[in-house]
Amino acid sequence: MQQPHKNYNKITALYCRLSRDDEQYGDSSSIQTQKILLENYAKQHALPNQKFYVDDGYSGTSFNRPDFINLKTDIENGLVSTVIVKDLSRFGRDYLQVGMFTEHYFPDNDIRFIAVEDNVDSDKGGNEFAPFRNIMNEWYARDVSKKVRAGFKIKSSQGLFTAPTAPFGYIKDPSNKHKLIIDQQAAMVVKQMFELSASGLSIHAIAKHLKQNKIQTPREIEYSKTGKFAKSVVPFPYHWADRSIHTMLQNRVYIGHMVNQKTTTKSYKNRKTVYKDKSEWIEVKNTHEAIVSEQLFDLVQKEISIKRRDWNKSNFVNLFAGKVFCFDCGKPLNLCVERYSCSRYRRFGKQACSAHGISYKRVYDTVLGLIKDDLTAIALDTNYFVSRLNKSIGDNSDSKKQALSKSIAKAEKRILEIDSIIRKLYEDNVLGKITDDRFVCLSQDYEKEQAELKDQLITAKKELSALNEKTDNADKFLAVITRYKDLTDLSQNIILELVDKIVVHESKTVGTDTDNTSGATGKVKKSQLVKTQKIEIYYNFVGNLNQNTADTKQADNTITPDISFTPTLYISQPA
Ligand SMILES: [Zn+2]
Repeated sequence: MQQPHKNYNKITALYCRLSRDDEQYGDSSSIQTQKILLENYAKQHALPNQKFYVDDGYSGTSFNRPDFINLKTDIENGLVSTVIVKDLSRFGRDYLQVGMFTEHYFPDNDIRFIAVEDNVDSDKGGNEFAPFRNIMNEWYARDVSKKVRAGFKIKSSQGLFTAPTAPFGYIKDPSNKHKLIIDQQAAMVVKQMFELSASGLSIHAIAKHLKQNKIQTPREIEYSKTGKFAKSVVPFPYHWADRSIHTMLQNRVYIGHMVNQKTTTKSYKNRKTVYKDKSEWIEVKNTHEAIVSEQLFDLVQKEISIKRRDWNKSNFVNLFAGKVFCFDCGKPLNLCVERYSCSRYRRFGKQACSAHGISYKRVYDTVLGLIKDDLTAIALDTNYFVSRLNKSIGDNSDSKKQALSKSIAKAEKRILEIDSIIRKLYEDNVLGKITDDRFVCLSQDYEKEQAELKDQLITAKKELSALNEKTDNADKFLAVITRYKDLTDLSQNIILELVDKIVVHESKTVGTDTDNTSGATGKVKKSQLVKTQKIEIYYNFVGNLNQNTADTKQADNTITPDISFTPTLYISQPA
């Protein structure tokens, strides 16, 4: 007779899993079979509050399955007493992870674990066979993975389509999922893209054209069909990414050839996608109807490669690659033909951000100017610069450090004192000088005080090391920047060593009264309007030294503006 389980209010979790690879083994492991088996077992053994957790279509090599995650949450909230599975392989096929759960996670959470067909029941003591079964299960997963990969390769060489979703312009043939057929509406868009490119339109201009004509992006179409997709894309249904157009224009699937095996996963355990080298791709010709002619396709390839070559030919080296960001949205600025603009603006337009347009030369000159300013400031009065540096890092760091060291020493001393007091109390108690009650009472107070002191000590030590690190960073920064004392040009080295990032604000047009005429009339003539744009440098180690920004100025009506700075030297600041 089975005893009712002690945790009568808690859930008995019945966990079922089936992956697509298992389907070939028919009904013996189907979800329905698993459910019936588990339910019967729970009834026979009087296990209460049965609840199913089902992951249908998930591989056993990963534990990242929706209902398994729900089960874990319920376990961690103390709702579950028992977990039952048909056999260990239903639970997982990675023996290290399965072992982690059965040997540590379940015992730690007071969970009884039962694998019915493997005779595993944690309430009945250890099961010596479980680790072997786990290894067998992993071996099985590896074997299946190999077979699946080999299967894909064979399918690829036969020109069969093997990816989960068809490329834009096609759909999978409903009667044969390995065959592509044309999606008329999308195919028209694809054809138009190729024609526009062949006529000399840039990829960015094609994206713009698609947006103006309200052509839905593939993601948007997917979203309207399934309701699934990243939120950030939803408000921008017609904003095509330049990169996806570029990829599409190079995809030979559109001339009727099947190109497979472009990507692979790292291993049967790690499902991360990795791109293969072009030489490893498998192409089979004329497997489906083409959307564009080979002639048009070749023309587009030339068009794309010419543009790329022009860009490379100019010998232009972008010193600030990966370092220039938009102040307003935080995204990188894109460099296109020696001019920067916000990448979010370029892709999504005015709703998302503004242009933040600035020429490469202006960024270069401003950054050079700012660094030179700082070098001048250091040369003029190093001590003053250091004090400003420390100020921007965090004020009074020296006196703070002293105060912290003092309180640390004090706490350490008191902790030792309390140790010896408690020892003394204990001796007195043993010798009968104080009663047990009194000993407990007194020692508790001291232990409490000691625990509090130890907490304080940890916090103070952390704070002190953070402060020390900051002053170390200031030293490191000075050591680097002073190496470039006679700076005339920027180099890749100095940017890498010195600059963490460059933040560009949107430009502003403002009046100026340098010649004192505007004051009289109260109006500003067009010739006196000046465009200013703020640029901030965040240095390595020390970040943004708050004065370290510059407004680049240009008269609004000049075509080739003269770049001038409004340098803010440290020395001009009041102390
Ligand atoms: Zn932006």
